[in-house]
Amino acid sequence: QNARNPNTQKSLKIEGIKDIIAVASGKGGVGKSTTAVNLAVSLAKRCQLKVGLLDADIYGPSIPMMMRLLGKPELSNDRKMIPIESYGVKCISIGSLVDEREAIVWRGPMVMKALEQLTRGVDWGILDVLVIDMPPGTGDTQISISQRLQLSGGLIVSTPQDVALLDARRGVKMFSKVNVPILGILENMSYFKCPKCNEASYIFGQGGARKTAEEMGLKFLGEIPLEVEIRSGSDEGVPIVMSKPDSVISQVYGEVAEKV
Ligand code: ADP
Repeated sequence: QNARNPNTQKSLKIEGIKDIIAVASGKGGVGKSTTAVNLAVSLAKRCQLKVGLLDADIYGPSIPMMMRLLGKPELSNDRKMIPIESYGVKCISIGSLVDEREAIVWRGPMVMKALEQLTRGVDWGILDVLVIDMPPGTGDTQISISQRLQLSGGLIVSTPQDVALLDARRGVKMFSKVNVPILGILENMSYFKCPKCNEASYIFGQGGARKTAEEMGLKFLGEIPLEVEIRSGSDEGVPIVMSKPDSVISQVYGEVAEKV
């Protein structure tokens, strides 16, 4: 909550929502949605904030599965969508609004129209923070989202690999271009700890995101290892910060929530 964009304070914000934080990545499959989910639940449970989670990943909306959202949002009297609450977080997914096969070919303006509906057309009530799971990538669509939704800050998720880090740098540039403060880089899939001998293997290289963050003068938010329970929790709809709140991993997510 510290890093607020001064430009957003005076401009048109969504009524009732104090801050909007975007979770972004340069490419898909690095754990952006996993981060968005565990961050949102940590902000609600650990930081006791009123939290919303918007799944804006048109290319593969995964929040309904990860947060075990059942059914479709109902409409309020004034025809606004009522978010589905799960683990204390009010959730809305682009997946409940459109057919994924259709949305995948959408160009920027269509995506923006859908997102306008998913933000302003939703009965969010009062929120301290809305977490947005962005579409992967750093193109025009992502830039328009950052601009139009007047983000308070952006968090970048990357794996330690060179190629992923290159994409992460693009993410940083994207947010800078539209004056969105960058909250930091979180490294996902940092290592794998052998459950038998406890030795850590740095499958995608070691320390890559930390180094990139330092080089770019950004906060390094922490390392999340490759962990079977993160994957199974996603598939079963129980985020690891709920199933294993005392684990080291949940601790890292909790610290990220406190830092942002
Ligand atoms: P993105 O949103 O960047 O496309 P996801 O968060 O959907 O990525 O993650 C892609 C897949 O990898 C999911 O099945 C997820 O459960 C799994 N995954 C993500 N992070 C981890 C991790 N640290 N350990 C194990 N599996 C992970």
